[in-house]
Amino acid sequence: MCGIVGYIGKRNALPILINGLKRLEYRGYDSSGIAVLQPPDIWMRKRQGKISQLELEIEAENPAGTTGIGHTRWATHGAPTRENAHPHFSCGNKIAIVHNGIIENYSMLKDELMAEGHLFISQTDTEVLAHLIEYYYTGDLAAAVRTALNRVEGTFGILAVAAEEPDCIVAARRGSPLLIGIGDDETFMASDGSALVEHTRKVIYMEDDEMAVLGAENVTIRTLQDAHVHRPAEELPFRTSDIRKGGYPHFMLKEIFEQPDTMVDSMRGRLLIEEATAKLGGLEGFWDAIRGSSRLIITACGTSWHAALIGEYLIENFAKIPVEVEYASEFRYRDPIISSKDTILAISQSGETADTLAAVREAKRKGALALGLCNVVGSTIARETDAGVYLHAGPEIGVASTKAFTSQVIVLTLIALALGRMKQLSAEEGARIVNALGSLPDLTRKVLANVDVVKALAKKMAVHNHALYLGRGFNYPVALEGALKMKEISYIHAEGYPAAEMKHGPIALIDRKMPVVLVAVRDPVYEKVLSNIEEVKAREGWVIAVVSEGDTMVKHLADEIIEVPAITQCLTPLLTVIPLQLLAYYTAVEKGCNVDQPRNLAKSVTVE
Ligand code: GLU
Repeated sequence: MCGIVGYIGKRNALPILINGLKRLEYRGYDSSGIAVLQPPDIWMRKRQGKISQLELEIEAENPAGTTGIGHTRWATHGAPTRENAHPHFSCGNKIAIVHNGIIENYSMLKDELMAEGHLFISQTDTEVLAHLIEYYYTGDLAAAVRTALNRVEGTFGILAVAAEEPDCIVAARRGSPLLIGIGDDETFMASDGSALVEHTRKVIYMEDDEMAVLGAENVTIRTLQDAHVHRPAEELPFRTSDIRKGGYPHFMLKEIFEQPDTMVDSMRGRLLIEEATAKLGGLEGFWDAIRGSSRLIITACGTSWHAALIGEYLIENFAKIPVEVEYASEFRYRDPIISSKDTILAISQSGETADTLAAVREAKRKGALALGLCNVVGSTIARETDAGVYLHAGPEIGVASTKAFTSQVIVLTLIALALGRMKQLSAEEGARIVNALGSLPDLTRKVLANVDVVKALAKKMAVHNHALYLGRGFNYPVALEGALKMKEISYIHAEGYPAAEMKHGPIALIDRKMPVVLVAVRDPVYEKVLSNIEEVKAREGWVIAVVSEGDTMVKHLADEIIEVPAITQCLTPLLTVIPLQLLAYYTAVEKGCNVDQPRNLAKSVTVE
């Protein structure tokens, strides 16, 4: 959530910061701001709205400073106004900070500082930190930041500058990601590698409770308790081309169309054809423990939670290990019963999802083995889990997750396959799944080639305010995911249900104005879904069905048909979800919505 950038070097900081903010805008976009050191002052501009508006405001200006910080906000405390936008300043305007996260004890600190005479101009929790640093400041910014942060409860990724110290930026983190990019005589900071990759691929990932003092040519990292930290730089695992739209009008569309390739990337080197199984380097040495677990708890939020539901079906089917799927936000607070015989598998695209991270920590505290399934290499969940698997789907910039979902399902299939083959799954069954996985990218291309059918459908969908999504078995989570995509980006109220549950309540909603999207591919629950379609039609609902190629039965019943090629049952979600992603996308475009930056949402939810 929110984006932070920083620059210290020999070049003009402003254009570098603006460009960095644009790269991060997908993480939060309700307001933004920049501070550049111009001793003896700090130049600052901020604005409500998009970065392009900030850019317009500062078009004619050109502060010459070579040290600066910037922020794009996703408001937690205080409305998205100019006043509440970051950077925030101390009373004397001599210290500025940008912050990602939540200062939980801000109100107590604010009272204390106000009693000392500090004047506050925003409603944010962040401003407290600027004043607290000022309170402890005696000419050494790093020392003041350390003392201030030791009094703070909550989460933070911060960059701080002081007018008196133009040759340094102080960075610190607890619970919010922060990377340092090492250039030639220049140093970059960002909450996400996509803001760094154009300048350098040499990065240092900061860890929780660490503070860095950054100069153009030097980086010193210490813990907040002042212990020395030595961490060598690593290489960012992606390139500049990965963070461009590549000719597509939106990142989301690019990412939907990338899926045949990202599927290959998620499987690369992981399929053992001869042995009819999967090989996952990140789990090597942990298989015995996983296989011997009494229970596997998969925890996640949002789209990843839908992937987790498919994972449950896969793992229980192939490996016969009991699986539970838990919303991370519920799991962390409900005092779950966990023992050292359990394994927890956390799924998070960004690897920074605050609730999922907290669930991992809770499970580890109680002795469970913790595994991670993340896309972002080096992310916090990836580092804090005992072992795990990367998706290798490349940076996902569209706020509505698409390619990460399909890669998550693929990796879960590989885990289930490997576990199954260690247990009771026959070589023949294993080979069938391996072959089907191999055919998946081409079949996905076929589904994508059908885009015009979905586009036409979206035009009709766009006039509706509500929609119901139904599926059964492996495609029940797909119904949930299709509905989530639709509401996230088109703001149509869409609900996903297991198809059979419809008659226990949602059926009351069906009339001729109600679109009902059904996944009705030819699988063992096909006949059952046919009955559900009949039930909808009997009430004059408008039925859109995702069916297997060549289907004739549903064709007679449904109003609209989207065909997908046949594939083994457990992999059908990977094909059926694609038209639903496209349907949400084109409906949102038809309605004129901002697809890549839907209102109120942000990528990578790093706050509770
Ligand atoms: N809590 C801070 C605010 O509301 C930071 C939010 C963010 O991470 O963007 O301003």
